[in-house]
Amino acid sequence: MNLLRLLAAESNARFIRVTGGTLTLLRRIVGQSPNRSSRSAVLSEDLVEALAGGTGSPTLNSLLPEMERPRRHSRQVKVGDVLIGGGAPISVQSMTTSKTHDVETSVAEINRLAEAGADIVRVAVPRPEDVEALPEVVAGAIVPVCADIHFNHQYALSAIEAGVAKVRINPGNIGKREWEAEVLHVAKDAGIPIRIGVNSGSLERDILDKYGYPQPEALYESAMRHVELCAAADFEDIVISVKHSDVFFMIQSYKLLAERTDFPLHLGVTESGSKETGTIKSSIGIGALLAEGIGDTIRVSLAADSAHEVEAGHQILKSLRLGRPGVNIIACPTCGRLTGDLFTVVQDVEKAVKSMKFEKDLNVALMGCAVNGPGEAAGADLGVSLGRGRAHLFKKGKILKTIPEEDIVPEILKAIEEF
Ligand code: SF4
Repeated sequence: MNLLRLLAAESNARFIRVTGGTLTLLRRIVGQSPNRSSRSAVLSEDLVEALAGGTGSPTLNSLLPEMERPRRHSRQVKVGDVLIGGGAPISVQSMTTSKTHDVETSVAEINRLAEAGADIVRVAVPRPEDVEALPEVVAGAIVPVCADIHFNHQYALSAIEAGVAKVRINPGNIGKREWEAEVLHVAKDAGIPIRIGVNSGSLERDILDKYGYPQPEALYESAMRHVELCAAADFEDIVISVKHSDVFFMIQSYKLLAERTDFPLHLGVTESGSKETGTIKSSIGIGALLAEGIGDTIRVSLAADSAHEVEAGHQILKSLRLGRPGVNIIACPTCGRLTGDLFTVVQDVEKAVKSMKFEKDLNVALMGCAVNGPGEAAGADLGVSLGRGRAHLFKKGKILKTIPEEDIVPEILKAIEEF
């Protein structure tokens, strides 16, 4: 659009022929439905004039509601007061790192994660004392608690009795068929869903032997084995995850499930690593699937403070404009044209915006110079472009005023509030 505007302004053209994406975009702006049979169009004199004058510029936000967002159809389950699947907002989950039997620390961690934006928090239940602590943990938590249980059906029964909102357990790992049936029966009576959590690192021996390594079909087969056990017990409140430590395999595994079932999917890359590498791997894996409309709830697994998982989860959703309303910061990478301290500006604005928790869907562009800055900020709702101790403050591509660099943060916050 900016190139087109520049062409209109500098060429004195009365007519411009446009094709492809530019044509589709312009048709949206002028309210025409995209006509696929016509591959190019000549812009009218009026439109060329409007472009040259910089009027009629749409922001990304103004166009997005019209854009199609793919979303896979899935069944819906209820985890406490959080809905998963069936078109519900994509929820963000995390897991505590504290010992569940340390009630005070666990409740504090759950609630800290909830404050950070976690919709559901999972706790590990590996010992009898963890099971005993569950009623107090559930009572103290301000978000639904999911119990993570392996192999022990008694723990699962006690967790459900303790009031957890979901249990992550793989029915096929419980042991006897009657134990599996009992857990599913009690979960059904309590109205809580079960997450079948298949993991590349803990596949069944026979499936590994069959496939040789944890390839996508192997994860799919393992998940469906557990699904079939649930089906035999007439239990359908299922969420499935097929987490893989290899991002490519993870994506392919979820795609198999998405194509062949309509169960809600919990997305995650397992053992993804540190805050830095884990966030990148998770963003690629989870993001690639979400961009195709696959996924109903997400967890970013990091070997780091659990609050980072929640932060990263929301950032992934925000990047795809799938999350809760919020301010999306766009910043240029800077180059040799930079004349101010954009890194500090970006850091300060991000910090301030985060703490203010605005519930407005706005794009705020922070640009490093006045050469490309105004043009690049034009697609955003608000923006600044730096230049020798000063900055232009933009609203929808138009300069509102010039401000000293040190006033950028308060001025941007004020502009967001008043938007
Ligand atoms: S906005 Fe300016 S400083 Fe930033 S990358 Fe573009 S040209 Fe460089």
